[in-house]
Amino acid sequence: MCLTPAVRTGELFDLLRDGRPWTRAQLAEATGLARSTVTARIDTLMRLGLVAPFGGARSTGGRPPALFALNPTARLVVGVDVGATHASAALTDLNGSILGEVDARIAVADGPEPVLAWVVESVGALLAQAGRPDEDLAAIGIGLPGPVEHSTGRPINPPIMPGWDRYDVPGHLQKHYPVPVLVDNDVNIMALGERRRHLRDVEDLVLIKVATGIGAGIVSGGVLQRGAQGTAGDLGHVRVPGADDVPCRCGNSGCLEAVAAGPALAAAVRAQGEQAETGGDVVELVRAGSQAAMAVVRQAGRDIGEVVATMVNLINPSVVVIGGQVAGAGEHLLAGIRESVYQRSLPLATEHLRIVTSRAGGEAAVLGASALAIEHVLSPGVVEAASEALAAADAEAEATGT
Ligand SMILES: [Zn+2]
Repeated sequence: MCLTPAVRTGELFDLLRDGRPWTRAQLAEATGLARSTVTARIDTLMRLGLVAPFGGARSTGGRPPALFALNPTARLVVGVDVGATHASAALTDLNGSILGEVDARIAVADGPEPVLAWVVESVGALLAQAGRPDEDLAAIGIGLPGPVEHSTGRPINPPIMPGWDRYDVPGHLQKHYPVPVLVDNDVNIMALGERRRHLRDVEDLVLIKVATGIGAGIVSGGVLQRGAQGTAGDLGHVRVPGADDVPCRCGNSGCLEAVAAGPALAAAVRAQGEQAETGGDVVELVRAGSQAAMAVVRQAGRDIGEVVATMVNLINPSVVVIGGQVAGAGEHLLAGIRESVYQRSLPLATEHLRIVTSRAGGEAAVLGASALAIEHVLSPGVVEAASEALAAADAEAEATGT
């Protein structure tokens, strides 16, 4: 007796997502399904627009080989990055290729109504610019600068976002665009964006954002790790040695953020007689050759490295990416981080460890928000539900004779 595994349309589509072309025979072999079943499911995926016949390559016999692949332009998603004082949104296809982008200076502290109104307006403008109807929008991904309960898309006690606590972000956007809305914190989406654009083959990576605050996005075994309450990677309030007398905005003292985030670096540089208000100013001073700023940044690197060393021992990433505004100080920051990590981490954990600055830079967040949306749209469960809805609609049409 032949035990055919129960492979559903969504799972069959999972194979096609890699973007490579497949024949029906290859799909039948890979899934254990009968050729006729594969044909029926490919038809469903083509009707959903997710799969299309591939390329013009012809077999030697003259007959076009029946190759199929993901159709990345069938549906679109919008990735949104809301920062403390700016926001940007990008329209992408299902490969994550950017089709259009908009930016605005807008303060998250103004509250959800004006910020989300801007998001709604931007989604409409991006679709219009691309000449695509609203129906082509499959999902919206959005990153916010604070803790988010990913399952509900609600920010939870976000310190720099007054008015946003437990606000129903998906519900607000869905009044205008009835599509899935995925919400996460900004550091998590930066990790996803960096991986998608530059580190596709890396299964274990940590992205550390060093800006007004410090946080980490952790990808382990290829999966973003949010933890039980979504606060995994909150490195900013880990205690660093030798800083017990430094108060932190969280109410504790000696936190990493209190000694190594942008405002702390600006204060340290001012104490040496230079002018600086933000981490960005400190980076400018480093670039201009200020010895004082370089020394401050290097020490911040060592402090960050102390915490990263522990993280390296705990979760053994193969790449640590440093992003955020202060990462603009480049090698001066990396040198300090490496110094502590190589001194404090286990030799086996650092043997192949790479510590690098973000290459996606300012685009990491919108790319990651788009990746979050794409992952959802192309997940086997969502594809399966769409194919079942299509089958139900067919059955109803047949019953009513239309
Ligand atoms: Zn703190």
